[in-house]
Amino acid sequence: MTQAAPPISADSLDEERFAALKEEIAAYVANEGEEWTRRIEAERMVPPELRTELRDRGYLSLAGPSEYGGQGIPFSRYLELLELFSMSHASLRMIVHVANGVWRSVDQFATEEQRRDYVMPAVTGELTIAFTLTEPTAGTGADLRCEVVREGDTYYLSGEKHLITFGVSCDRWLAFARLAGTKGADGTVALLIDRETPGVEVEDMGESLGVRGTDHARLVFDRAPVPVSDLLGEEGNGLAVAFGGFLTPSRIAVAMTCVGLARRAQELAVGHAQDRVTFGKPLSARQAIAFALAENAADIEAARQLTLHAARAWEQGSGEAPTLSSMAKLTAVDMLTRVTDKALQAHGGIGFWSSSPIERVYRDARAQRFEEGTNEIQKTIIARDLFTGGVR
Ligand SMILES: Cc1cc2nc3c(=O)[nH]c(=O)nc-3n(C[C@H](O)[C@H](O)[C@H](O)COP(=O)(O)OP(=O)(O)OC[C@H]3O[C@@H](n4cnc5c(N)ncnc54)[C@H](O)[C@@H]3O)c2cc1C
Repeated sequence: MTQAAPPISADSLDEERFAALKEEIAAYVANEGEEWTRRIEAERMVPPELRTELRDRGYLSLAGPSEYGGQGIPFSRYLELLELFSMSHASLRMIVHVANGVWRSVDQFATEEQRRDYVMPAVTGELTIAFTLTEPTAGTGADLRCEVVREGDTYYLSGEKHLITFGVSCDRWLAFARLAGTKGADGTVALLIDRETPGVEVEDMGESLGVRGTDHARLVFDRAPVPVSDLLGEEGNGLAVAFGGFLTPSRIAVAMTCVGLARRAQELAVGHAQDRVTFGKPLSARQAIAFALAENAADIEAARQLTLHAARAWEQGSGEAPTLSSMAKLTAVDMLTRVTDKALQAHGGIGFWSSSPIERVYRDARAQRFEEGTNEIQKTIIARDLFTGGVR
C-alpha cells in the first residue's frame, strides 16, 4: 500500500482561472442545466450523454489531485463550484458530487495497481464507482450482514444491498461485507467488485420522490466470486474504508449541496415574490413574505459559512473536522427543509404543481436528509463528542 494523496493546498489555486471557471459553471447550470432538468423530468431518466458532457467539460475531475489526472482544486474552493452545480437538477448534482468524491475512499487504502486501475480512472470520470453499503436487513454500519467466504484467491460474497446510487449503471461496486462468522467492525472488508461479476442479481428500484432519473439498485449476491486482489486494504479494514478519510469531506460536500439547492429555491421564491401581485401589490412588498425570504437568506448564509469552516478544518487536518462535518450536515439539511418550505409557500398553490420549478426543488431537497447519514446519526455523533469533551 502506498500513501494516499494529501489534501491539496488552498495556496496552489490560480484565482483568475478559478473565477472564469466559476462563471462558466454558473452559466452552464442556468442554461444547459435547465435543459437537462426539463429532459430528465420528462423522460424520467438520466440520458448517458449527460455524464459524457460533464466529463468532457472537466466537471467530474475538479477535486481530484493533478497527479491522478484531476484539476487539483482545493476542497474548500471546489465546494464553491459544487454549490453552483447543486442549484441544478439533483441527478446532475449527484453525478458531479459522486465523481469528485468517491475516489477518496478507494485511494486511502489502494495499492499502486488499484490506484492506477481504479482511482485514476475514477478521478478522470472514466470509471463509475457506486458506494455500496446500505442493506435492507441491517443498519448502515457495524451490523452489516453481507458475508464473504474465502476460498484460495477468491472471496465468495452473499447477501443483499439496496438504495445504491448508480448501482445499476456503474462499472464497479465499492461494497462492504464481513468475513463469515465475524461481528462488529472486526472482520469487515471493502471490495471493488466488477459490475459484470456472475452471481449478482441487479434490480433497478424504480422511481423515487426526488433525484429522479438517477438509477438506484437493489443487489442480491449469491456466492458471487470476487478476486482477493480486489480487496481494499486488509481484512478488518472494511468500515475504515467506508467511514475513514472519506466520510468527513463527503459529509461536508453534502452540506454544501444543501446550500446550493436552497439557493436555487430562494432564487425562485424571490423572483416569484417580485412578479406576483395580490391585492394591488407585489408579494415582495408584503412584510410576511419579505421576512420569510429574509430569514431564508440568513439561514443559507449561516449554513454556507459553517460548511466552509468545516471544510477548512478538514484541509488543515484539524481533529475537530469530523464533528464539524456532522454539525455542518445537520445544520445545512435542516436549513434546506426550512428554506424550501418557505420558498414553496411564497409561490402559493401554483408551487404545488410540476409546472413550477419549485415543485421539483422541494422534492429533491427531501433526499438530502438521508445522504451521508441521517440527522439522527449526525446528532448521535455530535452528542458522543459532547460528552467526551470533543465539542466546546
Ligand atoms: C436518494 C438516496 C440515495 C442513497 N444512496 C446510497 C448509496 O449510494 N449507497 C448506500 O450505501 N446507501 C445509499 N442510500 C441509503 C442511505 O444512506 C440510508 O437510507 C440512510 O443511511 C439511512 O439508513 P436506512 O435507510 O437503513 O434507515 P434505517 O437505519 O432503517 O433508519 C430508519 C430511521 O431510524 C433512524 N435510526 C436508525 N438507527 C438509529 C439509531 N441507532 N439511533 C437513532 N436513530 C436511528 C434513522 O436515522 C432513520 O431516520 C441512499 C438513500 C437515498 C434516499
